[in-house]
Amino acid sequence: MAYRSSWMTEELDSFRTQFRRYLQAELAPHAARWREAKLVDRRAWRGLGEMGALLSSVPEQYGGMGGTFAFEAAVLEELEVHLPEMSTSVSVHSAIVAHYILAYGSEEQRQRWLPKMATGEFIGAVAMTEPGTGSDLQNVRTTARKDGSSYVINGSKTFITNGQNADLIVVVAKTDPNLGAKGMSLLVLEAEGNDGFRRGRNLDKIGLNASDTSELFFDNAVVPAENLLGDQEGQGFYQLMQQLPQERLALSLQAVAAIEHAVDITVDYTKDRKAFGQPLIAFQNSAFKLAERKTEAVIARVFIDHCVERLIAGDLDAVTASMAKWWTTQKQNETVDECLQLHGGYGFMQEYPIGRMFVDARVQKIYGGTNEIMKVLISRSL
Ligand SMILES: Cc1cc2nc3c(=O)[nH]c(=O)nc-3n(C[C@H](O)[C@H](O)[C@H](O)COP(=O)(O)OP(=O)(O)OC[C@H]3O[C@@H](n4cnc5c(N)ncnc54)[C@H](O)[C@@H]3O)c2cc1C
Repeated sequence: MAYRSSWMTEELDSFRTQFRRYLQAELAPHAARWREAKLVDRRAWRGLGEMGALLSSVPEQYGGMGGTFAFEAAVLEELEVHLPEMSTSVSVHSAIVAHYILAYGSEEQRQRWLPKMATGEFIGAVAMTEPGTGSDLQNVRTTARKDGSSYVINGSKTFITNGQNADLIVVVAKTDPNLGAKGMSLLVLEAEGNDGFRRGRNLDKIGLNASDTSELFFDNAVVPAENLLGDQEGQGFYQLMQQLPQERLALSLQAVAAIEHAVDITVDYTKDRKAFGQPLIAFQNSAFKLAERKTEAVIARVFIDHCVERLIAGDLDAVTASMAKWWTTQKQNETVDECLQLHGGYGFMQEYPIGRMFVDARVQKIYGGTNEIMKVLISRSL
């Protein structure tokens, strides 16, 4: 049963093979240390940059690889399987932050930031969530007040991916606190030398341990007025919404890659491990569970491929992307749970990847818009 994603090409095949070898040989050996340190070495980002794995769908004139979103998809899938410690961080950096700058930045802003993001010299983050505001994004309290040729930012953010490492932070702030969504703007803060900006704790999470997730504080942090994304204030909410299909699809791709990998490694494990004198997979319960999960993996793959094709064609709508996000991440959680069960006690041990996959999967239903919010969006379209 050879199924191949419609968006895969020979060029992508050879890129993936090279990239996979690089991940396995050069970066994966450091993963345990990064999980311990709760931070990935910056050198790893430079390595990804050299491989062309950062900003792969950004035009070459801005330092990217000039591919379609298919390249981004290939990078995320390879990371999810061979270096999951960096998949979410790279997703935020390449599929989200770089695309805000590409879509809404001026030519000068693109030239200034994107090439450094492509090499991994600059690491990107997006700061929406606040201690008091997550799902209800319109209610952010952080403000950006215009003061001559600058904006002065005040407020605090939390749960920010890449928060410890980030050089470039897209801050969601109210430029007019009297307006709801229409008062929101996106401002790019360059962290180095910004006296009013401070990083808080690198938060202690139950999974996704190598990915730094932080509090950020802005106390009269001054940002040049030209760092506003877009030609006028008040466009932030609209800009965020425009990019959501791609962000949600990136999370879904991670989910589908994880589902497929969980099934693969569990098939191998149950063929190898014996109980009552026979391989685990010879028990009908184990075989049926894996048959069901394999079926769902294929269904998820076909749906996600449809979404990738539509994104590349420029017509992936927010509702379909929301369906992909909630359903694939829900299936990811169910699959890794069942696959862990089929590993028995070994599934609970750190030395087997399924245990890490189990804890890492949980947040997929929460970030990028919770799965409940996805259903709110879908139900509004009914
Ligand atoms: C590891 C990690 C990384 C993250 N990275 C980033 C990042 O890089 N940048 C960033 O800005 N944020 C990031 N986040 C934040 C994430 O996007 C938020 O946690 C998420 O949007 C939910 O917000 P909240 O935590 O405030 O939950 P809440 O909004 O308080 O929601 C709590 C519960 O209520 C439910 N709920 C809320 N409103 C409704 C409703 N209208 N209908 C039904 N149910 C509802 C939610 O679904 C959820 O189950 C990250 C979070 C984590 C855990």
